[in-house]
Amino acid sequence: MKEKNVVLWNEKKITVDSESTFYDVIKANDSKLAKKALAVKVNGQKKDLSDKPNENDKVEIITFETNEGKDIFFHSSSHIMAQAVHTLFPDTKLAIGPAIEEGFYYDFDTEHTFTPDDFKAIEKKMKEIVRKNLPFQKKTLKKEEAIDLFQKRGEIYKIELLKELPDDEVTIYQQGDFIDLCRGPHIPSTGKIKAFKLLSLAGAYWRGNEKNKMLQRIYGISFDSRESLDNYLRMIEEAKRRDHRKIGKDLDLFSFQEEGIGFPFFHPKGMIIRNLLESFWREEHLKHGYQEIKTPIILNKSLWIKSGHWDHYKENMYFTKIDDQDFAVKPMNCPGGILVYKNRLHSYKELPLRIAELGLVHRHELSGVLHGLFRVRSFTQDDAHIYMRPSQIKDEVQQLIALEGYFYKTFGFDYHIELSTKPENAMGSDKIWEKATNSLKDALDDKGIPYKINEGDGAFYGPKIDFHLKDCLGRNWQCGTIQLDFQMPELFELYYINPKGEKEQPVMLHRTILGSLERFIGILIEQFAGSLPTWIAPVQVRLLPIADRHIEYGKKLEKILSENNIRVELDANNEKIGAKIRDAEIHKIPYMLVFGDKEISDNMVNVRKQGKGDLGPSTMEQFVEKLTKEVEDKLLP
Ligand SMILES: [Zn+2]
Ligand SMILES: [Zn+2]
Repeated sequence: MKEKNVVLWNEKKITVDSESTFYDVIKANDSKLAKKALAVKVNGQKKDLSDKPNENDKVEIITFETNEGKDIFFHSSSHIMAQAVHTLFPDTKLAIGPAIEEGFYYDFDTEHTFTPDDFKAIEKKMKEIVRKNLPFQKKTLKKEEAIDLFQKRGEIYKIELLKELPDDEVTIYQQGDFIDLCRGPHIPSTGKIKAFKLLSLAGAYWRGNEKNKMLQRIYGISFDSRESLDNYLRMIEEAKRRDHRKIGKDLDLFSFQEEGIGFPFFHPKGMIIRNLLESFWREEHLKHGYQEIKTPIILNKSLWIKSGHWDHYKENMYFTKIDDQDFAVKPMNCPGGILVYKNRLHSYKELPLRIAELGLVHRHELSGVLHGLFRVRSFTQDDAHIYMRPSQIKDEVQQLIALEGYFYKTFGFDYHIELSTKPENAMGSDKIWEKATNSLKDALDDKGIPYKINEGDGAFYGPKIDFHLKDCLGRNWQCGTIQLDFQMPELFELYYINPKGEKEQPVMLHRTILGSLERFIGILIEQFAGSLPTWIAPVQVRLLPIADRHIEYGKKLEKILSENNIRVELDANNEKIGAKIRDAEIHKIPYMLVFGDKEISDNMVNVRKQGKGDLGPSTMEQFVEKLTKEVEDKLLP
């Protein structure tokens, strides 16, 4: 029998006989790993475990732990779901069933209208298929044969897909009596899917085109253990409870209206959060030597041509005409900010020049990706542009890293840093890129700050450092960014006068800390499930008189609190005290002050803390002092 040389994942070289599959190879070398293996990657190409190696193949193993593994696992689960649906509703025609970032879906065309009540029966059928541990068998067919096969099964959508394929040969996968057109790879058998759940339904046009038939999409998720599935389902429930769109509505913070899809409306209570966030931001920036500007939202076409946005960013921009001239609504603040820099001469003595702008930008996003405050069409960037001499880069970047960290710690977020290097479509020479990238690395290494490198993920004008916040559900949010830019100063011919009286080009740095104010408010709402830290809560105290005759006393307390800059509401409703407390709890108000005959005669109030209950009696002086301190220290709940 002919033998083949194969290089294993651990660099070990072995010879195998020609009949061996990848699975055989793995099992002979590491039986534990063979159990975990879902597929293999050979020279960058994903293959089934049942495939056979070629001479000198280097084998890498794909397990559920990796994104590639999850992708294959989810996709295989979608085949199982489709098999179950087809068994239960034999008239079903199959469209497509890909893996998505979290789970999978399949689009079906059937007379039956699915409801969540169908999930149980489908899941039961899926369990049977999993229990049978059916192998996923790959077959290669001539395209014509495949068309014949799906014709017999009435699979009109598969035939449409097949007819468009350029290849003469196609692969199909079969488990049991179920057949699907598929490029693969797949997991070896259905028994690998240890835990799964169907999650939701949606309508979806065939090929996303509204002129086509509306199909029924079922979403699901699967895992390699029951425990992982349970954790995931708990996480989803918690995320639903914390959803900023729901909390924003319940607490009357903001809304979205038909008349401006993707453009958020901030309500009075939402504005309090926003204004406090901006004040905090301004105070800190003043302390750190920033000056603030405000540039126009609409600017002439010529500026956007010069900045490159007209050529590289047009599909995300909005346009208008003024006096027959073309204008664009700004998608970024840089070009406007640069005009301010260019408005007068600068000396080296002014550098680094730190110019901040809370700039309202508009970017066109497809309606399908809009998501509450997280993904909108207009938002305020907490932008700043820093103009400096090349020798100042390291120092400036280090100060910035510290400032960003201070903001995140104030809200209790953990974060990590990523450094992105030169992308393929980069502007500028390799030498400049190397210099820029090294100065960012230097700034990090020098302070011993750990970071992850994203090769080729930088902006087209320069390398960048990104800050990724981790929320209480373990989700990551990229908020802050520090981007070095040698290109725009060149494009816009920026300069300063050096000590010798000559013109010299500054380096420019673009940076944000919160990213988008709107999105950051959304993140805060979810992080605290609406129970914001007292310093930024729209209402800090609610006064709860026990009976109507105590309202007068409440008005006096209201005055005292307002005079101490405490945001207060008096609940004068004719309700039982229990109901008033419940209402204040629902509205996530940090403190409740309860008072009746006894408190009034003792000149005291009874303090309750949201989510914590009764804290006991206190004088107003003590309460005001304690709350003021809590606000000053920006204590977290
Ligand atoms: Zn498939
Ligand atoms: Zn910028």
